[in-house]
Amino acid sequence: MKNKPELLLPAGDLEKMRFAFAFGADAVYLGIPRFSLRARENGFKDLSQVAEAVAYAHKLGKKIYVTANIFAHNSKVDVFVKYVSEVLSLCRPDAWILSDPGLIMFMRDNFPSEVIHISVQSNVLNHASAKFWQKTGASRIILSREISIAEMKVIHDALPDLELESFVHGAVCIAYSGRCLISNYLTHRDSNQGVCTNSCRWQYKMTKTKHGDDYVPLKDEFFLEESERKGMLFPIDEDESGTYLMNAKDLCAIKRLNELRDAGISAFKVEGRSKTVYYVAMIARAYRRAIDDMAQDLPFNAEHMQDILATSSRGLNEGFLHGDPGASALEYDTSNSASLAFRFSGIVRGYDNDKKWLKIEPRNPIKINRMYELCTPGGTVPVVVKELFNDKCRPVADIHGGVDCCWLAYGKDPGAFAILREKLDVAAV
Ligand code: SF4
Repeated sequence: MKNKPELLLPAGDLEKMRFAFAFGADAVYLGIPRFSLRARENGFKDLSQVAEAVAYAHKLGKKIYVTANIFAHNSKVDVFVKYVSEVLSLCRPDAWILSDPGLIMFMRDNFPSEVIHISVQSNVLNHASAKFWQKTGASRIILSREISIAEMKVIHDALPDLELESFVHGAVCIAYSGRCLISNYLTHRDSNQGVCTNSCRWQYKMTKTKHGDDYVPLKDEFFLEESERKGMLFPIDEDESGTYLMNAKDLCAIKRLNELRDAGISAFKVEGRSKTVYYVAMIARAYRRAIDDMAQDLPFNAEHMQDILATSSRGLNEGFLHGDPGASALEYDTSNSASLAFRFSGIVRGYDNDKKWLKIEPRNPIKINRMYELCTPGGTVPVVVKELFNDKCRPVADIHGGVDCCWLAYGKDPGAFAILREKLDVAAV
């Protein structure tokens, strides 16, 4: 049997981590706000939660990687060693994902036995850079998203002992990861300190008008204006209007896993620590099945796309895996979420064996006589909600998404990790 690359999922909080593992992840990555990107949408608020995550993963025989991949200002450099010491006093993560050369040096000097993975933020594009980081003691490189499978193979052939990790799914930047100031400029939220507002994906339009002054534009001079920031204009040469000018489609490499493996990739990574439990579970399940099939030399099964297409995205493409994708990597018109065939309805929180009721924590409205599906690590089963009860066990016709719990009649316990999704009345995607 050929080697089976690791499936690495994001863990935005403890619950997302548990679902990622249940639905097939071999490892997850997490971070705490002070040192990792995704500072705001981060459920790991203190180190005791990191320790809890590590204990949970290790009990399952799985791995946890801690991200500390900001580019650090002086104030953060000085507390980095203290932070790592605190983490290590509580638990032993399987690796640290780092990008700042200074922090990497501090880690090497102070904690020489810790495993270092070089973050995608470091933009490793070639075998020389990879060798440089290997010489510093890194055991794995998370390759830049902007290289092709052929380039990955060159790096692997030059450094066969170095682990290579590649993103296979999720949102991508319009810039090289970590080399962008759009969010800083528009909202004063620094993407390299973990608070990016994803400003590149907002709606911009072209205008010739400068608001609020007597400016007279030159012939053929246009400005870019974000729809929520009237009057904040950026000169630009394009000649279209009403476009998501910088809105990169999401990466989806599920059909290329065998090519990536054959090029020497030993870990497949999914982006999205701020995504929902539902997203994490569905993407984990799809890639788990595809990797298991690949390991048995089975051809790609198109059914694996169903879970991916049941989650929101900005449109999918294969990025730079086979060279520069050009304009095909951008979604100029709008998000494709309107065409989604499913909506995340809630998380199963228990089962009453006497009543044969399923306890649900709703995330969106649930209504009787609608079609739903229960998704578990083992499969998907259709559910028609015939009887619905509120948290006081009174029958109701619908429940809105903000309540703590509701109950619905269902024949058997689906197990510890189950998600309810609604089948929407739209054309199949
Ligand atoms: S604004 Fe867009 S390109 Fe820039 S860091 Fe954020 S997500 Fe990436």
